[in-house]
Amino acid sequence: MEGSRAVERALNNLTCGLQDVRDVSADEELKHHQFVLTEILTNLLERKSDDEELDEDEIQTIYDAVKGAMKSASDLPVKHRQKHLQVSKVGKAIDKNFCHVGVGPLSQQPVFKSGADKEAMTQVISQHLYREGMPQVGDKLCQESGVTSGLDPKILDAFKKMNVVLEALKSRNLEPALKWVDENRETLLGQGSTLEFQLYRLAFVCLIKNGNGTETDVVTAGMQFSRRHFPRFAKRHEKEIQKLMGALLLCTSAGGIQSSPYAYLFHDQMWDDVINLFNRDVCNLIGVSIESPLQTCCSAGCVAFPILLEASHAMTLARQGQSQGEGGRAVWHGRNELPVELNLGKEFHFHSIFSCPILRQQGSESNPPMRLNCGHVISRDAVHKLMNGPRFRCPYCTGAQHLLHAKQINF
Ligand SMILES: [Zn+2]
Repeated sequence: MEGSRAVERALNNLTCGLQDVRDVSADEELKHHQFVLTEILTNLLERKSDDEELDEDEIQTIYDAVKGAMKSASDLPVKHRQKHLQVSKVGKAIDKNFCHVGVGPLSQQPVFKSGADKEAMTQVISQHLYREGMPQVGDKLCQESGVTSGLDPKILDAFKKMNVVLEALKSRNLEPALKWVDENRETLLGQGSTLEFQLYRLAFVCLIKNGNGTETDVVTAGMQFSRRHFPRFAKRHEKEIQKLMGALLLCTSAGGIQSSPYAYLFHDQMWDDVINLFNRDVCNLIGVSIESPLQTCCSAGCVAFPILLEASHAMTLARQGQSQGEGGRAVWHGRNELPVELNLGKEFHFHSIFSCPILRQQGSESNPPMRLNCGHVISRDAVHKLMNGPRFRCPYCTGAQHLLHAKQINF
């Protein structure tokens, strides 16, 4: 914890300094000096003939302007050096506080040592960058590492479009999202998505919230919008449309919408919901997980790391105690399992995986789990191995089974 604070302090010093630099940007300062000098020059050229001498005031003005410009120019490298120093301080703080932190006896063989592992890691990072709207950084990483992102061009393109729409939604612009929905309507309807209705609902709310003109104009515009867009949603979203009509009536009343039961329609949460739904629908459409796999791993790591660190510390102490002959407490020697339970919470629970208790293999499409008539579940390959003709016995309860009675189970 102390280590985190030290790095945070170094980072704060750096970001505060950066803010100062941004406030009076060097570029603007130099432009200002350039402007002043050009002004003086233009004035002099206009007023003086070629053989006329400059008076003292004019010389002083030129002298001051040049002096100011030179000071700014010489200040720049100093500021740059200071910033550089602060950047290196952050690096040093990280090295000092974190580079030696490891999970000691819990660590396995060095991961990412082989070329293939490194390549896989680079791919995961580049895919994360494309997904998070940083395609240039992703391209650069692939280019410099000589590793391709491994993403299908269609998915790359979908990520690109997704980020354009997300950016627009974050700046409260619905147009790109409506266009995207229009292009993918059939598939979205097939998925049972409500995204299109939610986008039009938001467009309607924005219309009556930010409507121009008199109250009557707003109501008329709202009515026109709903006649044009809502009929096709009437079957599926009748109740929601009724609420929108209620909101339209109340938006002109004295109490206003804020004190009405429809106030929730005007909350920013509606935008957040649409953004989440859009993200979910795009990922569904292209068949990728909603969260970036890299982000999921890092978040799971953040939850697991303190527990692992504690276990590692306790084990190191136990080892030391053992070597000094202070009691022979059991020391963990297992390599395929951890000595502590890591409960990462529901957020990190994903699909159930079936592992055959007989063959000790993970279930797959070609080798799915089969439920026997006694209730025990084993893999199809295990059933075939046990078969004697179409009949076999359950390896657990020895109950008589017939191939025709074994049913495939889908998780
Ligand atoms: Zn059985």
